[in-house]
Amino acid sequence: KTPLVQVKDLKKYFSIDRHYLKAVDGLTLDIFPGETVGLVGESGCGKSTAGRTIIRLYEPTEGEVLYNGKNIYTYKHREMVKIRREIQMIFQDPYASLNPRMTVEEIIGEPFAIHRTLSGKKRKERIKELLKLVGLNPDHMSRFPHEFSGGQRQRIGIARALALEPKFIVCDEPISALDVSIQAQVVNLLKELQKKMGLTYLFIAHDLSMVKYISDRILVMYLGKMVELTDSESLYNVPLHPYTQALLSAVPIPDPDVKRERIVLKGDVPSPISPPSGCVFRTRCPAAMEICSKVEPKWQEVKPGHFTACHLYEV
Ligand code: SF4
Ligand code: MG
Repeated sequence: KTPLVQVKDLKKYFSIDRHYLKAVDGLTLDIFPGETVGLVGESGCGKSTAGRTIIRLYEPTEGEVLYNGKNIYTYKHREMVKIRREIQMIFQDPYASLNPRMTVEEIIGEPFAIHRTLSGKKRKERIKELLKLVGLNPDHMSRFPHEFSGGQRQRIGIARALALEPKFIVCDEPISALDVSIQAQVVNLLKELQKKMGLTYLFIAHDLSMVKYISDRILVMYLGKMVELTDSESLYNVPLHPYTQALLSAVPIPDPDVKRERIVLKGDVPSPISPPSGCVFRTRCPAAMEICSKVEPKWQEVKPGHFTACHLYEV
């Protein structure tokens, strides 16, 4: 299979007071058609910046993103506008990303207007279809965002992202702002839509609680670096990296007979302006050794398809 999206050594640095904030520091990832890759890490680890840079909402500092084999960073404005129809984003806070003065019809119809595809009656029909597709009442298209619940607003955001029949969607914490009871509904909707429309997702989350249900593979990031990447099953059953193990220990287990010890990390995430030497996780790692402050661990395939960067697994 050929990947739909190939991220190659992507870096995104922001300069702040003559210092560099290395938000994303070397991200390499293939995303295959129809696949969902989860991207997980605490806030400030660079995952949103990574998502935005991958679809070129931000310009990269270094690296390439190939979409269908072509580097989108070389695209001129016109080519970028064209490709934007295929590459969409769903945002964390549906309320902040929906214009409160626009009706649902105007919000979902905006992409058709911008890309000058559908107008008039055809546009209206398509908006109705989209509302039905995301489980909303098509008769409510003249309502405003505040007349909907949080979960419904996220459905409006999803309908808008689907308007131009995209192929690849970056979902930036689409369920983090929702009640736990609603989260599963939105995840199920995204899965259903993926099947129906052959979508490929990059699904960003700040913890490991829900991401398992939607992801085929999961990439864990810490301070702009890739920490671990494997299929969801392996990540939940045999996490290798001490950071992944800590994240996983915080996920509640529904079965009261199963006990998992909570690993509480000491301290806070260090500033990405002055990350620790060697392994960026060493200041909080329960397994840190002498070498960890001196040498940056290499990204290695420890088992087939299971990658991590940690001295514990270096041969
Ligand atoms: Fe911990 Fe060292 Fe592995 Fe980093 S390289 S995660 S500090 S054991
Ligand atoms: Mg974020």
